[in-house]
Amino acid sequence: MSKQTDNYAALASALRLGYDMTNNVIHGQWNGYHIIIYAADSRYPYWLTVQTSARNPYGANPSKEQIKAFTKAVKPINSLVQDGNHVRININFAMGGKAALEKLTACMVESLNAFTSFLYQGGFIPCCSMCGMQKYAAPHWSAGNYYHLCADCETSMRQKLAVAKQPKPENIVGGIVGALLGSLLGVLCIVVLGQAGYVAALSGVIMAVGVLKGYELLGGRLTKKGIVISIIIMLGMTYVGNQLDWAVALYTKGGASDFGFNLFDCYRMVPRALSGGVIESRAYWGNMALIYIFLLLGAVPTIYGRVKEKQQQGLLIKIGSAASYNSPPQWK
Ligand SMILES: [Zn+2]
Repeated sequence: MSKQTDNYAALASALRLGYDMTNNVIHGQWNGYHIIIYAADSRYPYWLTVQTSARNPYGANPSKEQIKAFTKAVKPINSLVQDGNHVRININFAMGGKAALEKLTACMVESLNAFTSFLYQGGFIPCCSMCGMQKYAAPHWSAGNYYHLCADCETSMRQKLAVAKQPKPENIVGGIVGALLGSLLGVLCIVVLGQAGYVAALSGVIMAVGVLKGYELLGGRLTKKGIVISIIIMLGMTYVGNQLDWAVALYTKGGASDFGFNLFDCYRMVPRALSGGVIESRAYWGNMALIYIFLLLGAVPTIYGRVKEKQQQGLLIKIGSAASYNSPPQWK
């Protein structure tokens, strides 16, 4: 168990709330409102978001001024966001030492009391975040978002996700065409940045996103086969981008345009310019190596992210249904 898991469990226990350690979410009721507490950005585990689902049945929402006055008055609360029936507050807490649990607990109690009384005074009644009806709504997670769902909305959301998950037929030829079209964005980026004197991971990201999105758009869906084809296209088109970058350099800085050569002639001249010493071979291979390193840096997280997104597609997770914490939690 990680230190962070232990600390969340200790915080949940101090607040007398539940902790779902599989999904890393603290959940429960506070003054009648169903709340979940989670880190919106996993890199900052103690910048916590508290989310509830509630609405004013008469549609009277707090004004910008009221929200500003509220977040100013309650020190630990950085911001309050109302997004449909979702209402969230953000609490940024800097961690420090063993006393942190006490401090964090005190901050959370203050924030939760202030938040729930703000909602109560604004006439907000707990509801389902989808249909807005005043029914029991359990916390859920799907595709990166949290919801409080009533039983009916949970069922209909599961059905919708199941339909969306139905595999569409894959059109490999379409996918290849799409990937090639998408890769042109990456090539453009390599050339434009290259001419400006940069080699950047940005080109790799754009190449990867362009190829994967292109494959999916025209190929219908992205399968393992599609990913392999996409990687081959990325490698090949990165080479083309690099050659084109040198061709543009020959055309403009090399003065080839003055001799009546066009850009295509220059592209064909790159290998000869390299063997003839017009292009310095160290610069050429060094640049090529950099471009491929940056492709790796840009493409690997993109592909990993897409694969993870695919795996999580169609999932609706009920918070608090799986794991519980057995031993008394300790702050570490
Ligand atoms: Zn509902």
